[in-house]
Amino acid sequence: MRSVGCGPDVVEMFGPVLKRLPIWVTLDDSDERLPRLLGLLKQHGVKWSEFRRDRYTDDELEAARLIFMDVHDAMDGIFAGPRVGTRYDMSEACSSCGSGARQTSAMFVDGERLQSLEGKRAAPTWYHDILVDEKLAGALADSGATGLSFRGVFAAFEKRAQFQLPWQQLYATHTLPRMSPRSTGIDLPQPCPCGRSCFGTFWEIPPRLAYRASDLADACDVNVTWEWFGYVKFNGDVSDSVLAYPWFLVTPKVWRIFRDAGVTGFDWMPIRVVEE
Ligand SMILES: [Zn+2]
Repeated sequence: MRSVGCGPDVVEMFGPVLKRLPIWVTLDDSDERLPRLLGLLKQHGVKWSEFRRDRYTDDELEAARLIFMDVHDAMDGIFAGPRVGTRYDMSEACSSCGSGARQTSAMFVDGERLQSLEGKRAAPTWYHDILVDEKLAGALADSGATGLSFRGVFAAFEKRAQFQLPWQQLYATHTLPRMSPRSTGIDLPQPCPCGRSCFGTFWEIPPRLAYRASDLADACDVNVTWEWFGYVKFNGDVSDSVLAYPWFLVTPKVWRIFRDAGVTGFDWMPIRVVEE
C-alpha cells in the first residue's frame, strides 16, 4: 500500500476476518494513486470490490432543496427495533413486507451494545433509525425544524430490564410522494406486490435522487421517502421481524445543525428537482 502512496489517511483495516485482513481504501476518482493501486492489486492477483459514492461541497449542500441523509455504515450503529422490543402499529402496513409500519413506542436498543453509541453525537441503528444525543436533539428542536418529532430511547436487556438513555430518536412526521423515475442508482431486485419495499442501492453506482418540483410543495425540513429500503424478513409477527425503512431527506437548515455539531457517520447528497 505504501509503495503506491496509500497511508493511514486513506486506508482502514478491519479484522483479521477468517484469516484475511479486509482493507478499505477511500480515494477520489481523480486521485492519481487510484490507477497505481488498481495496478498493484492486479499485479498480485488480489480481488477487490468498488463502492462508488458522490461527495458534495458545503456550497452544493447549501443550495439543495432537500438532502438525502445517508447512513454511511449501519453496522457501526446499534442493534435496535422490533426484535429488541420496539412496538409498531401494523394496521396500515403491507401484510407481505411490513412496509408502512408505524412506530408506536420509544426506540428500544440492545443494552449489551451501548458502546456503539459512546463518543458520538448521532448514530444510526442497524435499520437506519437515527439517534441523536440530548444536546443535539435540543438544537434541532430549538431550530423550529418542521416535520420533526422525537421518541425516547431505552436500553433493553434480557429479563425485561430497561432504562432510558440520554438520547432521542428523530421521527419524521411527513412522508414525501414517490421519487421521480429519473432517480438513478436505485435497485429493485424483487419487488413486493405493494411496490413500496425491497428498494436498495448498488455498490458501484452512486444513488442520485430526483423529485418532481410539484411533489415537493408540502415538503418539511425533515421528511422520509415513500419508498422503503433494505432487507425484509416479515411473517406477520412484528416482534420477530426485520423491517425495511424509509430514507431521511432534510433541508440544508437541518444538515447545518449536524455539521456544526461535528457529526460524522452520514453521507449527505442533494436531490435533483425535475419538472416532470
Ligand atoms: Zn409490501
